[in-house]
Amino acid sequence: MKAMRLVAEGRRLEAMPVDLPPLSPGSALVKVRAAGVCHSDLHLISGSYDLGEGRKLSTTGGGAVLPLTPGHEIAGSVASLGAGSESSGLKEGDPVVVYPWVGCGQCRKCALGRENQCEGAQRFLGFMRDGGYAEYVFVPSVRYLVSAEGIGAPQAATLACAGITALSSLRKCRLQPLELVLLIGAGGVGSTAIQIAKKTTKARVAVADIDDRRLEQASQLGADHVFNTSKLEARDLATELKRVNEGRGADAVVDYVGTPRTASLGLRLLGHEGRLVLVGLVGGGMALPLPVLPILGAEILGNFTGSLEELNEMVALVRSGAVVPQVSGSFPLEEANTVLERLERGEVAGRAVLVP
Ligand SMILES: [Zn+2]
Ligand SMILES: [Zn+2]
Repeated sequence: MKAMRLVAEGRRLEAMPVDLPPLSPGSALVKVRAAGVCHSDLHLISGSYDLGEGRKLSTTGGGAVLPLTPGHEIAGSVASLGAGSESSGLKEGDPVVVYPWVGCGQCRKCALGRENQCEGAQRFLGFMRDGGYAEYVFVPSVRYLVSAEGIGAPQAATLACAGITALSSLRKCRLQPLELVLLIGAGGVGSTAIQIAKKTTKARVAVADIDDRRLEQASQLGADHVFNTSKLEARDLATELKRVNEGRGADAVVDYVGTPRTASLGLRLLGHEGRLVLVGLVGGGMALPLPVLPILGAEILGNFTGSLEELNEMVALVRSGAVVPQVSGSFPLEEANTVLERLERGEVAGRAVLVP
């Protein structure tokens, strides 16, 4: 089969033929119909996250063996099932979305169903194991397949990372009715988060971004207030936010970008007992003015993707019509490098998907 693969860190992906992986008991082979292109793929290719001050963190903790096929937002149809997989109720041809955050299956987090926080040997598809930038993907257990009946493959694909990240990060905000949550970054994850916040909580939603096009889309998706942070000083944004929140700072801020500038901005905009959830992985470090946290009784939390259960919940939210994943375009698999470059330049609104 055809695959776009990472041969060496920092290099462009290469089109390569790959043997179809053999099935093992309980496993499945999925024919890929759409593979989302996520910002994390850029970190996989570069090999590291930027911790600031010249320090780096390996993207896969040394768990990747090259060449490797990226792609962790995968939707497609069941191509074949390993022995014993029929008990899942799935059959060949069924549309599915793949849960890619496969853990070791043995640690405490895996036992609790939070494989995305696996403490052991992670087997994340598209990071440590071959992912969806290919015609087929091997899935080690059918339990990682969620039926995507009734959902288009490009939309379903985005749920496996952007969707569950949006859901899981908003949960960490513990939003109360009438509270104000500020979402920084209205790209693939942010645009989903706006809809989830509006449809599943009674909180008010403000969105900050540097791109007017994305802010216009945010308004259409239901954002109550939008702010262009390329045109507003942090001080003025703080004033604006207080104006729409009865003189208070934000009750929660989710940073879907993750730069020193956005995280510091988020912290600065928090009100009393505010929660700042860091999600974006663009990277860098920031100085933390220590007295601010105790004085405000504020919290800083992190969120990395979501659980298999949350993928099931996202699929239900999309089926009910509450959330419409924003797909900006479909591109042939061979154009993976071009799409990744556009994403790196910030030119993608919503999610771009590759179609083998
Ligand atoms: Zn992702
Ligand atoms: Zn584990």
